[in-house]
Amino acid sequence: MGNYRINTKCVQSGYRPGNGEPRQIPIIQSTTFKYDTSEAMGKLFDLEENGYFYSRLQNPTNDLVAAKIAELEGGTAGMLTSSGQAANFFALFNICEAGSHIVASSAIYGGTFNLIAVTMKKMGIDVTFVSPDATEDELNAAFKDNTRAVFGESIANPALTVLDIERFAKAAHAHNVPLIVDNTFPTPVHLRPIEWGADIVTHSTTKYMDGHGSAVGGALVDSGNFDWMAHKDMYKGLTTPDDSYHGITYAEKFGQGGAFITKCTAQLMRDLGCAQSPQSAFLLNLGLESLHVRMKRHAENGLCIAEYLNSNDKVTKVSFPHLKGDRYYDLAQKYMPKGGCGVVSFEIEGGREAAEKFMKNLKLAAIETHVADARTCCLNPATSTHRQMTDRQLEEAGIPAGLVRMSCGLEDKDDLIEDLDQALSAL
Ligand SMILES: *Cc1c(COP(=O)(O)O)cnc(C)c1O
Repeated sequence: MGNYRINTKCVQSGYRPGNGEPRQIPIIQSTTFKYDTSEAMGKLFDLEENGYFYSRLQNPTNDLVAAKIAELEGGTAGMLTSSGQAANFFALFNICEAGSHIVASSAIYGGTFNLIAVTMKKMGIDVTFVSPDATEDELNAAFKDNTRAVFGESIANPALTVLDIERFAKAAHAHNVPLIVDNTFPTPVHLRPIEWGADIVTHSTTKYMDGHGSAVGGALVDSGNFDWMAHKDMYKGLTTPDDSYHGITYAEKFGQGGAFITKCTAQLMRDLGCAQSPQSAFLLNLGLESLHVRMKRHAENGLCIAEYLNSNDKVTKVSFPHLKGDRYYDLAQKYMPKGGCGVVSFEIEGGREAAEKFMKNLKLAAIETHVADARTCCLNPATSTHRQMTDRQLEEAGIPAGLVRMSCGLEDKDDLIEDLDQALSAL
């Protein structure tokens, strides 16, 4: 599907049925696969031949959906995982080990922050967090001899900062390290990080890709652009024989475009087992078929609501990268000229109490921890996810008590604005 536009790829990439085959992607709901001889199966175990033997490692439905996501991102190979958390862990752990160091943007999803700052630290992997606004010099200063990856989010959840991918890629490559970008919020419909220098792209497919709040999942895509063999001593897991796979050297046997995902599947999926269910992959593919239509509407609704909120006296601050005057407006226009996502955050006068009352007043927007759903939802971190923190701590963390994060769905924008208007007027 190489020459088709992204809208067509959303609908038709991945599964391409032959004559008389099912029109919709078949759900291969099978843990295992049958072979006539042990020899035939042995070849699969040795990675001598392509095929399926156990769905913890690979499943045909999952592979077709992963291939679609890889095409959308413009990568050479992809894989699905059971969640976005698993995707980010796999992306990092596939090239890091005890004694490694990561440079990560501090504006990232809370779960990923915890994964890197706490859990991976326990595994002996160190991190230096940098501001997403770090200058070239500040970025360069964060690297150490043992740095093996740079990580950031294209649009950060929930900070809504925009990553200067070119700047981060330049710093990463100057230190012979790949850049990993979590592209969950804009999706490849609005931003393709590989085109700007990212080497690995990850997703929580739970969000816009699924888009209907129906299945938790994740994905990884390799650009095929990072030359592991040129930095042989830094990435031994890819460039020296793997004893647990009969001495295969991934970068030699599967080349620059296939090594990363093959190793991630053969080692990490085998040992850690974060496989997505084929049923979930089917639901994800349904979401992908309309992703380009939905993202346009999410971004339009997000902008309309950001503009409305910006003009309301009871709202003291609005963050939305595509809103004129936003700190990230120029970066948003550069990387995402057609729009980003539908998540808006804003502060209401009167703090925690006003935010709580406002959300109670809303009729269309439900209170959920979720984002990126077809249905509009909102959250006040101070009274939910961050309720253990004092007002002062919240302020310091950049999450003031009156902050509301709203994920604009696919409803009519006028209905959403009327709902906001009545909820704010009643304060
Ligand atoms: C939700 C989210 C994750 C985690 O994904 P899960 O599917 O919930 O495990 C990672 N990154 C970003 C940007 C997210 O929004």
